[in-house]
Amino acid sequence: MNLERSRALFERAQALLPGGVSSPVRAFRSVGGTPVFLARGEGPLAWDEDGNRYVDLCMSWGPLALGHAPAPVVEAVTAAAALGTSFGTPTAAEVALAETVARLQPLAERVRFVSSGTEAVMSAVRAARGFTGRDLLVKFDGCYHGHADYLLVKAGSGLATSGQPDSAGVPAAVAATTVVLPLDDEAAFRALMSARGAEVAAVIVEPVPANCGLLLQRPEFLAALREETTRHGALLILDEVISGFRLGPGGAAAHYGIAPDLLTYGKVIGGGLPVGAYAGRREVMEVVAPAGPVYQAGTLSGNPVAMSAGRAMLEALERGGWARLEAASATLEALLRPIVEPYPVSLVRLGSIFWLVFQRPAPRAWHQVERAGAERYKRLHRAMLERGVYLAPSAFEVFFTSAAHGDDVLREVADAMREALAIAFEEGA
Ligand SMILES: *Cc1c(COP(=O)(O)O)cnc(C)c1O
Repeated sequence: MNLERSRALFERAQALLPGGVSSPVRAFRSVGGTPVFLARGEGPLAWDEDGNRYVDLCMSWGPLALGHAPAPVVEAVTAAAALGTSFGTPTAAEVALAETVARLQPLAERVRFVSSGTEAVMSAVRAARGFTGRDLLVKFDGCYHGHADYLLVKAGSGLATSGQPDSAGVPAAVAATTVVLPLDDEAAFRALMSARGAEVAAVIVEPVPANCGLLLQRPEFLAALREETTRHGALLILDEVISGFRLGPGGAAAHYGIAPDLLTYGKVIGGGLPVGAYAGRREVMEVVAPAGPVYQAGTLSGNPVAMSAGRAMLEALERGGWARLEAASATLEALLRPIVEPYPVSLVRLGSIFWLVFQRPAPRAWHQVERAGAERYKRLHRAMLERGVYLAPSAFEVFFTSAAHGDDVLREVADAMREALAIAFEEGA
């Protein structure tokens, strides 16, 4: 496989960009080898700078629910850009996207647009703290919520242990405003809430935890979060940056039948452009400036090009995109099940979100995930890449189908997987 141009570009990149990238996992450190520089995409396919063709199952880490360069989005972006890329005033495009969001997800009584998922989450947490007048945030081990200081915190041991920073540069005092608990453990959560519930501003969770593999939760666990937060006057924030508008119009909230106080969005909502949003109950969202005292702003927030892309994406999903997305995902699962069956692996799927994990049964919490799987994944990843299938370059990332993944490319994926799994489990591997 010729990666000459990618290699040369990566060398130039390393001279200027820390680690050669703009976001860490892209550097391929956990799978090894040269990061692939993608140059062009069309539907389910992408081509790199050397002209190698891939069936893409990373899909820009989630935004591309319709595949690469879907016509409705490209047309909307082109038309909007020709009119001017940014005004710094309110625009019709942001009103239209907010109306679309609220129509699809009625829990979004008020919506504020930002430019990334990270911003959406940090702003939602600030709104929750402003609304409740409390500081403490509860998150779950293995859930990723972007790179705000107090969210880069992993579990300390013990129940109510305050968090320790997961990144250099995060002050301990900031990390201490976050308590980290295990997923899948109602008892631990109820114990924390009975001890400290009155201090808790918000409990934040990825209802479909998809950043440390795919740690599907029991509905009872998610229901306990709603029950206890209500009891203690804390807010529940569902981080739907991945699941939002991917699992259908109502996202995970509708899938599990849970009404949070706040929702956060990113990825799909921007149609592949930089958009995030936080939304929710009117009385909570009305604390956000200028309606209320919680400050949050953005030069490019509500940018008309990005807003138009988001609306084109959501409307195309509504016009049959979600149905095609589910059909493609069910097809891929049906193709892969018999192939993975002989191996000690679990294929986990919810909607168009997949994870292949090297253990059985599939884990539901991060502490149950066997880190040794990463070594096998490295071999699998390499073998898939050589067979023209682009998977996320980390064992603990999920893969995504899009509405553009037709049966032909899905069969290519299955054929590649049959050979790649055999290689990953070769004697001595
Ligand atoms: C990707 C992600 C974020 C962060 O979004 P960015 O746009 O990368 O800042 C937050 N929460 C979840 C659940 C995510 O998957």
